[in-house]
Amino acid sequence: MTETITPLRIHSESTFDRRVIKAEGEPLSGLSIDTVQVNIGLRCNLACHHCHVESSPARKEEMTWETMQLVLDAAERCGAGTIDITGGAPEMNPQFRRFVAAARALDKHVMVRTNLTIMLESGYEDLPRFFKQYRVHLIASLPCYLENNVDKQRGRGVYKESIEVIRRFNQIGYGLESDLPLDLVFNPGGPSLPPDQHALEEAYRHELAARFGIRFTRLIAITNIAIGRFLHDLQRQGKAEQYQQLLCDSFNPATLAGLMCRHQLHVGWDGTMYDCDFNFALALPTLGPSRHVRDFDPATFVSRRIATGEHCFACTAGCGSSCGGALA
Ligand code: SF4
Ligand code: SF4
Repeated sequence: MTETITPLRIHSESTFDRRVIKAEGEPLSGLSIDTVQVNIGLRCNLACHHCHVESSPARKEEMTWETMQLVLDAAERCGAGTIDITGGAPEMNPQFRRFVAAARALDKHVMVRTNLTIMLESGYEDLPRFFKQYRVHLIASLPCYLENNVDKQRGRGVYKESIEVIRRFNQIGYGLESDLPLDLVFNPGGPSLPPDQHALEEAYRHELAARFGIRFTRLIAITNIAIGRFLHDLQRQGKAEQYQQLLCDSFNPATLAGLMCRHQLHVGWDGTMYDCDFNFALALPTLGPSRHVRDFDPATFVSRRIATGEHCFACTAGCGSSCGGALA
């Protein structure tokens, strides 16, 4: 029988919690801290329709160097091997390069979530060489291999610019050499689940090679979560409830073990700790008394109860969804 749900209700025991308890016998809790994901600022050179953190060139929020040092200290103390840097366009934080260099000096695997087009802006043209020097793992948005779909979601001209930047990365070895990974991120243009990630990856590989001769390492398929600008779009179209119901009806317990919140600490630009990027966007910090990274305690954090809500159904629908793609 289908349960009726209300989009984005966040309370002590939501429909999502009941599903998790039915599957696992208890509410969602942490399992490990493999990654520290850090949102170093909300400024972006783009203002995409689906942006869940509502970034744009007008946003001013950015992480200070002092907070970045606290983040690195937290990563050291919990033994996380990966620092996953996001934004906004994280490259626009003035301390970005210093932060990457410091994380690499600690021998962390550094991932940067990039919109690619920033590399064409004045002052950022040398970033590809910088990324190569520090062996940064790039995760780049390219929500479709077709120009119309990308420009509709991200703005006119973004597709051509993205292709040009991927070409430049290929020229220096990204997407071709094993220690220079260039992953692409797909997300659906509307209120539907992503198609099978492996089949889509093959289609991307074929189309991008045939049209432009460009290559990438891996495709990550992400489910749109009904928050931020994407939610506003759905509400304008009268499709918000229908989409949330689809996510709820597609709940797959096999995705629970791999949910990204169970294996990471997420730190917002002001140092507040969250379970994930989506909770950051919803201003829903971690549960418990310690909410700033300066008070981070790995021993209590690792098995914490996770702050959940109806939005979590986006991560457990179908094959599941995380910053690393499908889960099941
Ligand atoms: S989705 Fe990414 S590229 Fe687009 S506005 Fe948001 S942060 Fe910028
Ligand atoms: S939205 Fe965040 S807290 Fe909820 S299941 Fe997904 S990763 Fe976990």
